[in-house]
Amino acid sequence: MSEHNFTKENLCPNCGKIWKPADRQDHCPNCLCGIHHEDDDGEICGGTLEPVSVWIQEDGAWEILQRCRLCGHMTATPMTHKDSRIKVLSIASKPLSTPPFPVEKIRELTRIMGGQGDIEQE
Ligand SMILES: [Zn+2]
Ligand SMILES: [Zn+2]
Repeated sequence: MSEHNFTKENLCPNCGKIWKPADRQDHCPNCLCGIHHEDDDGEICGGTLEPVSVWIQEDGAWEILQRCRLCGHMTATPMTHKDSRIKVLSIASKPLSTPPFPVEKIRELTRIMGGQGDIEQE
């Protein structure tokens, strides 16, 4: 149902950069924002997808978590080699400088996330 043409150039709704959405590049390589074309039910949204976090999958692939400014929809998009590394790192380090949870909970969190980052005790 989407009328979006992925061969066309995209204008970033956030920083104004124009980028060609080649391959899997569905977000702005400069500020990592995207456009929420339609939600899961096929309803047209058109809101701006803002990067809120970076997620590293088990195979080491990086994904950018985005949240729609308009409807709050969360989505993950694969990071590409064109993406600004500085921007990615600033998003990745954001929760570390201002943890949204008590620091003593980190151990519990890493256990929930599969034990990665556990401190050796033996
Ligand atoms: Zn942008
Ligand atoms: Zn939306």
